[in-house]
Amino acid sequence: MKAKLAAGNWKMNGLGRDLSEVRALISAMGAPSCEVLICPPATLIDRMRILADETVLQVGAQDCHAQASGAHTGDTSVAMLADAGATHVIVGHSERRADHGETDAQVQAKTQAVLGQGLVAIVCVGETETQRDAGQTLAIVGAQMRGSMPEGCTAQMVVVAYEPVWAIGTGRTPTLAQIEEVHAFMRRELTERFGSEGAAMRLLYGGSVKPSNASEIFALANVDGALVGGASLKAADFGQIVAALGAAS
Ligand code: PEP
Repeated sequence: MKAKLAAGNWKMNGLGRDLSEVRALISAMGAPSCEVLICPPATLIDRMRILADETVLQVGAQDCHAQASGAHTGDTSVAMLADAGATHVIVGHSERRADHGETDAQVQAKTQAVLGQGLVAIVCVGETETQRDAGQTLAIVGAQMRGSMPEGCTAQMVVVAYEPVWAIGTGRTPTLAQIEEVHAFMRRELTERFGSEGAAMRLLYGGSVKPSNASEIFALANVDGALVGGASLKAADFGQIVAALGAAS
């Protein structure tokens, strides 16, 4: 199993002046015993990569286009993201699935594009509140994983993030037992499909992770890190989450 991963998703937040938070994070976190990644908006990838150079911080992207180039105004290819300094790309985030109507098939094509350029894909899955209330959580998560991940995924190249839609940005989280149940299910499904690669693939939990709940979530079986939105914007909060993951590693 690779090192655990604390990944920050800045979403559509962050201007040049906010890089001061990254400077503060780098100097506060020292040498954590986990991987640390921030996925800023595309406009900041290059500048953040320069700041992160020769530090443990890795820089990623929040989305990509599935095609290598062409007439796709406003889109960004994986090669362009890599050229700017990204090492990881989030694909299939629920906000993209909802705002842009992205389907599992489109997410799979993006995942394939990420792997084709040798970057790490962070594939997001998760149920809505209505689906959870209807008892469909595992069916939804299973279908999204099958549909969004191409054949040949490896533990080196793919990370899967379980992000219940109703927990994102709401301050609400599933119970620890609910997180553990979904992650155990994901581990079984991934191992069945990808063998030892699936058994070793990192599974992140995402949805209102904050300093006050990070340690108890990181203590759960099959939780290999977190995808963090709001709490990744402030060095003080994200630094504590990184420290909690390092302590659980
Ligand atoms: C996310 O956007 O992936 C996320 C988990 O957001 P938050 O931590 O703010 O809930």
